[in-house]
Amino acid sequence: MKILIIGAVAAGTSAAAKARRNTEDAQITVYEKDSYISYSGCGMPYFLGGHVESIDALAPRDPQFFKSKYNVDIKTRHEVLEIDATAKTLKIKNLDNGEIFTDSFDKLIIATGAKSVIPTIKTAGGTAGANAFALRNINDLIKIAAFIDEHKPKSALIVGTGYIGLEMCENLTERGIEVSMVEKLPQVCPSLDEDMARLVQKRLEAHGVRVSTGVEVELADADLVILATGVRPEVSLAQNAGIAIGATGAIAVNAKMQTNHPDIYACGDCIEQFNSVTGRAIYRPLGSTANKTGRIAGDSATGGDLEFRGVLGTGIFQIFGLSVAQTGLSEREAREQGFEVAVCHNIKPGKPEYMGGTEMVIKAIAQKSDDAKLDGRLLGVQIVGEDGVDKRIDVFVTAMSFGAKALDLEHLDLAYAPPFSTTKDPVMYTGMILENSLHRGRELITSAELKTRIEAGEKLQIIDARVAAQFEKDHIGGAENVPLERLRDAADALDRDITTVTYCNKGVSGNAAQNVLINKGVKKVYNLSGGRKSFN
Ligand code: FAD
Repeated sequence: MKILIIGAVAAGTSAAAKARRNTEDAQITVYEKDSYISYSGCGMPYFLGGHVESIDALAPRDPQFFKSKYNVDIKTRHEVLEIDATAKTLKIKNLDNGEIFTDSFDKLIIATGAKSVIPTIKTAGGTAGANAFALRNINDLIKIAAFIDEHKPKSALIVGTGYIGLEMCENLTERGIEVSMVEKLPQVCPSLDEDMARLVQKRLEAHGVRVSTGVEVELADADLVILATGVRPEVSLAQNAGIAIGATGAIAVNAKMQTNHPDIYACGDCIEQFNSVTGRAIYRPLGSTANKTGRIAGDSATGGDLEFRGVLGTGIFQIFGLSVAQTGLSEREAREQGFEVAVCHNIKPGKPEYMGGTEMVIKAIAQKSDDAKLDGRLLGVQIVGEDGVDKRIDVFVTAMSFGAKALDLEHLDLAYAPPFSTTKDPVMYTGMILENSLHRGRELITSAELKTRIEAGEKLQIIDARVAAQFEKDHIGGAENVPLERLRDAADALDRDITTVTYCNKGVSGNAAQNVLINKGVKKVYNLSGGRKSFN
């Protein structure tokens, strides 16, 4: 059997290795138009920041490695020009000598990845491109590194504030370059909800980064310009061969990574995935998924039975000491997709403050539904904090992968000792807060909802449960200050029939105040999710 693979980075090489592990009877050849293979694209910003010693450390494997370890032939600088799906052949060009030849396959695996979206932006010198770079592969990295070494730029403008833009921001700043960022959407890091993105923007500004949102750049006036404006799946070969493309513009595959042609598979950044919570098509080009889907493609092409279970769209990045992670749907996406949701903001330290714990903000979204099977199901989580974020997001991901509901979280038997966590871990608290809001009459109101209701002129009784000094410093317009310790006595004087909102700084005393008022007979009491800190 002859297996041909197009593309030799994360997905293509995973597919080749898995195919070989399954069988010694296949001849496996990978065509790659670039000269670098199997590299860590994810590590590239860290090379620029001086955290990675050499480019070789990012690309430690060469074709000889794959030949000797897996008996796989990787032909670099070979571009596939055409797939003939009927004849089951590829037309290939050797980029070193210009020779064009044909090769045939029994099974083909397309792992052509993605390419950068390049906006049309003029740079200061009028020479678009001379100091403007996208970062997609090692060749791009080499060009940026050489430019920095030669021109010693003092300023950089990063266009786009997604994960890669933000990682570049941190690493260029560490090189002593003054960074500005521009984002055409109204917030940084567009995959987050606006309230969580604000925390990222604050951190950027605290480190001297100038951030402009809601701005389309036409002229980039900086010594160095980084275009981090997203990627698009590389599907032209597949499309020209009649292979079906999905709604997101990436190659459509089934759970076995098979395209609409039974002997052609696809994997990695060129394919469309599905969201494992909603079942809907999404496009999340990530190295983690490219490795997973590559392995499945290699398995399927050699008769294996592995099947893809979809993705939650989990991602994480670091920016100036802040870890930012998300999984599943944001509140915005959940509402856009028609879900009725309960939302909570849980602000807690990852370990006791006496052990140096620092606060993280966990925003979690659960489904409200009349269908008992769906009611309380977790839809998404975003976390921003200095430490312990990676561990919590992975606990949420694991729970959500098995269909967890809010109530399930407080029952998790998580590891606890002071150096690692709090007696009730922030994940467990998140479940308790959501469950109390969903089913125990301790409803939450988000800042956005409260603002809308205030602006609509709704008659609300807003109780600031903090001490007088905090209230005097700043409070929500129209709020009345009744510190928690006075609330029991003062409650009888309050109107029981008006919708009431309690709040404190972060939500905990607000919840205590909510409990007091509910137990004293106030009919409808919300606690402000995330407290005064979340209300802007
Ligand atoms: P690609 O890496 O795009 O490789 C596809 C290969 O196919 C390319 O080498 C291309 O030359 C080749 N090819 C295309 N067409 C042809 C053709 N016609 N003939 C021959 N060869 C062809 N992901 C994470 O999960 N976490 C991270 O922290 C993270 N950080 C990142 C940081 C940066 C700066 C970048 C750029 C990406 C990052 N990613 C991250 C994403 C991750 O790198 C990609 O998801 C991963 O590289 C996808 O692998 P792939 O093999 O599907 O595609």
